[in-house]
Amino acid sequence: MKSIPDWDLVVAGAGPAGCALAAKVAQRGAKVLLLESRSRPGEGREWIVDVEKTAFDAAAVPRPVTEALWEEPEKTVIVSPSREHVVELPPTPLVPVRNGEYVRQLASWAVGSGARLRTGARVTAPVMDGGAVAGVTVSAGGVAERITASITADCTGIAGVLRKDTPAGWRLSDPVRASDTVLARREIRSVDRDEAERAVKEGKLVDRLRTDRTGAHGAYSVESVYLDVEGGFADILVGIKPSPDLPTADERFARVLKEMGFVREKLFGDGGPIPIRRPLDALAGDGLVVLGDSACQVIPISGSGTASALIAADIASRTIGRALGEGRGDRQALWEYCREFQSGRGALLTYYDVLRNFTDSLGSSDIEWLIARGVMTAEEVTSGLVPRVFRPRPAAMVQKVLRGYRRPRLLLGFAGAGLNAQRVKGRFSRYPERYSEKELESWARALPGYS
Ligand SMILES: Cc1cc2nc3c(=O)[nH]c(=O)nc-3n(C[C@H](O)[C@H](O)[C@H](O)COP(=O)(O)OP(=O)(O)OC[C@H]3O[C@@H](n4cnc5c(N)ncnc54)[C@H](O)[C@@H]3O)c2cc1C
Repeated sequence: MKSIPDWDLVVAGAGPAGCALAAKVAQRGAKVLLLESRSRPGEGREWIVDVEKTAFDAAAVPRPVTEALWEEPEKTVIVSPSREHVVELPPTPLVPVRNGEYVRQLASWAVGSGARLRTGARVTAPVMDGGAVAGVTVSAGGVAERITASITADCTGIAGVLRKDTPAGWRLSDPVRASDTVLARREIRSVDRDEAERAVKEGKLVDRLRTDRTGAHGAYSVESVYLDVEGGFADILVGIKPSPDLPTADERFARVLKEMGFVREKLFGDGGPIPIRRPLDALAGDGLVVLGDSACQVIPISGSGTASALIAADIASRTIGRALGEGRGDRQALWEYCREFQSGRGALLTYYDVLRNFTDSLGSSDIEWLIARGVMTAEEVTSGLVPRVFRPRPAAMVQKVLRGYRRPRLLLGFAGAGLNAQRVKGRFSRYPERYSEKELESWARALPGYS
């Protein structure tokens, strides 16, 4: 006789994905356990995340409380690697959110919805039973424990602690290659107001202007600075792909601090790796769902994953609610989550992965030229932040060709990547309706290399 599992749902990892999922499934009356390895949710992850303003309502999660919000820049510009050329962005569709504060808000929401939160509990592996995931093993205070559940969720971020131990045939265990990651650090630092004011007067910086210097250390790299002299702080972000030829994000961050001179102690902030490849081919196996960074649900061109994690939690909670109601946890019962995510948000994320693969091949001088010539436009950059497929008007296309004709390789490269991105996006919108190993295999076969 099969024993009754300890929980309906065990969620590993109390980040945005895990907390939102735990809250939503608990609200449906299920018995939910949320496990977090740190001593409190959000610990070590106190950076600011810029999140699509519409994401909270779209994912039906609480909007960040005032303490979880940060100052919105009045204006944002992209500058070229040499800093000589500038593109002004339209009003930003993003809101800066304090990740740690917001995660704790979501964790309280989960607990208030009836989920149980256990911190200091490191999930070590899935429990397998009859070929299905049936819970997790946990190490807490040096003691190993086995916890069983009808359904388990891997929300452990880039570590993907549970999914990496699943059978290869589930298409959940892909490792994230270093070339598909970006290392990022974002800190809020106090500033010496007099020195900062002097730097502004000398024209070294503009007060309350967010400046994103892009492409200085490889096409993907970004150094973003926002100074508020009156507020007495600077918001500094560095993102860089790992490479033996490039500084790390932390090294570059230290360099930016030195260059700015007037920056003082850290008020809050942290750093870490972000996966920037398209989502995993599948997002569920027997007894298991995978969400957020663990499932690589990040906008590949910008490294933004919060909105996708929340949207995934919303979709997965509905599927899990239905599956639990039917007394099921098998992959077929969990497949609706895969189909709904992949054919919508997943298709968009993959569109931007194709473009990211192309821009990865560009050098700093290409980025300099694209910005200088006005070939890279504000609308294009903003579309990758939201994300929304970029559809230039015919007149804008003609202007692009006129501005860029001296570098046909770049223009043709962009055009080819754009067409390929559309093709691959179309493929995602035809994601298998039901799980079938053969169908999934043939769907995925057309993806690698995007050629
Ligand atoms: C510096 C930086 C800046 C960023 N800026 C942005 C931005 O501007 N906009 C944006 O949208 N995104 C941004 N991101 C990415 C964003 O933070 C992630 O996409 C998002 O947090 C993913 O949420 P998640 O819940 O999937 O995973 P995570 O936030 O990674 O949460 C995973 C949780 O699981 C826990 N955990 C891990 N292993 C275990 C284990 N074995 N057992 C138990 N618990 C475990 C972790 O402690 C953590 O609490 C940034 C990331 C970094 C590093």
